[in-house]
This record gives sequence, structure tokens and C-alpha cells, in this order.
Amino acid sequence: MARKSPRSRRKPEPPPRLPGKIRPRATPGRGRKRAQPRPGARKPGHAPKGARPGAKSARLRAVARRKRPPRRRFAPPDPARVQAIVELLARLHPDATTALHHRDPLQLLVATILSAQCTDERVNMVTPGLFARYSDAAAFARAPLGELEEMIRSTGFFHMKALAIQSCCSDLVAKHGGQVPRTLEELTALRGVGRKTANVVLGNAYGVPGVVVDTHVQRLARRLGLTDESDPVKIEFALMPIIPRERWTAFSHWLILHGREVCNARKPRCSACALAPHCPRVGVTASQ
Ligand code: SF4
Repeated sequence: MARKSPRSRRKPEPPPRLPGKIRPRATPGRGRKRAQPRPGARKPGHAPKGARPGAKSARLRAVARRKRPPRRRFAPPDPARVQAIVELLARLHPDATTALHHRDPLQLLVATILSAQCTDERVNMVTPGLFARYSDAAAFARAPLGELEEMIRSTGFFHMKALAIQSCCSDLVAKHGGQVPRTLEELTALRGVGRKTANVVLGNAYGVPGVVVDTHVQRLARRLGLTDESDPVKIEFALMPIIPRERWTAFSHWLILHGREVCNARKPRCSACALAPHCPRVGVTASQ
């Protein structure tokens, strides 16, 4: 028998594969099996258009909501306890008033704007020079912004504060003849004036009661269990019905002083606090 030549024994060359084309299986239908869905299971579908990747479906969110324990209702404080706190604070701080130096409502308005995120002592160092240079609302409105910023630079956030003083004084000149109005609505309508600033001016310059919620009042109102709110405006509205109206302004001063002297943010001095018998110390984890 004639021997085949090595060339004739060589396997035939496979046809050239196009790039990206999948090689066909040797035996169609006998490849790796896919996991079969359980009977009754939901077919995996596409996420709704616009859904975030990994976002929970509405059904899962509803289940999670059902499992979450309901938010505990805040019980209004006992009026007798609130009265005891008010009386004690009145006795502890009989002369409490604003620490911001001023001679008229406009000066108080400007000083209050400057006191945001700044100590009253620092503001009192800046205002004598400022009030000597700008004597009325028209002068503040006309002041070159750069010059105003330089004068108040040490109080921090000076770009924003200079703009607030200038815009507010322009509004005073345009709408109120350069005078500071006497109502909360008119004051809060001025550019750069919020409820806190308006209540400071009304309470201290015009004797109109108002609850001023600064960082100390915010902290103490919660610790004393007077409210569970954390938003300043909600705290103001929570305190108004439980504190006698004629004491709104004084109550704010008392809490501010008490917060500075005794109930400080990091470690309140509960062992030396006269309010301790009436204070649930909500959220206090460390004290002296
Ligand atoms: S008892 Fe403590 S937490 Fe309560 S007001 Fe006094 S210092 Fe603050």
C-alpha cells in the first residue's frame, strides 16, 4: 500500500474567523445550562426609565417602611415644669439684655447682621468705627462695597455681611424713608434680614416681644425638653405657646446667657445647674 504523503495527512485549515464573531458550539444545545427561575418567581425586568442603579423598587420601599418603628410623638412639656424653669431663669439672670452695643434701631440691626457666626465681643470691637463712618441707612446704602468689607472683615463672612447690610439699608431708604420698621413682616421683607434678626430688633429696640432662636436657644430648648424640633423657625413656633408672650424676648436672653455660662455645648455643668431638678437633659451624654 502506497504511503500517504505528510501533506495529505495534515488536518484541513479552519475557515478564518472574523473579529468579534463567536465560534459556534461543537454540539448546539449541549452547552452550560442556565439557572432556571423558580416557579412563581417574578421575571427580571428592566429598571424603570430614569431609576438610579441599585435603587429599591416601590414594593421593597413599602416593606422597609412597614418595618421601620414609628417616630415617637413628642409630648408637650408640663406647664408647671415650664413655669418653674421660667421663674428660675428670671431669678438667675435678672438683668439679661442684648450684649450688642447700639444707640438706635439701625445700629442694632447692623450689629445683629454682623453677629452671625461671630461673638458679640468681636462685633462690639468693630461697630464703633463703623457707626462713626456711616451714620444712617443712606450712608450704608451708598458705601462702596469693598470699603465696607474691609471695615467688617474681622467678623467673618464679610462679603455676605457687607452685601446684606448694603441691600437692607437700600431697602430701608427706598421703602421706609431710612427708618427701621416696627413689624416682623416689614422687617423680614428687607433683603438680608431673617426672623432671628427681626426679633432681636423688635424685642430690644421697640419692646415688641419676640422669641430669638440662636444656637444657644436651639440647644437648650431641646435639652430642657421644651421641643424636639431642630429647625430654628420650628423651635420659635414651639416655644411661643408655652412661654408667656411678655417674656419671649427675656426668655431668649436667659437661655443665651445660661447656655454660655452653664449649659455649654460640649460638657454642660449639670452638677452646678439650678435648672437640674426640672431638666430631662435630652441628648446629654457627658456632663460635669
Ligand atoms: S441640667 Fe444640664 S442639660 Fe439641663 S440645663 Fe442644666 S446644664 Fe443644661
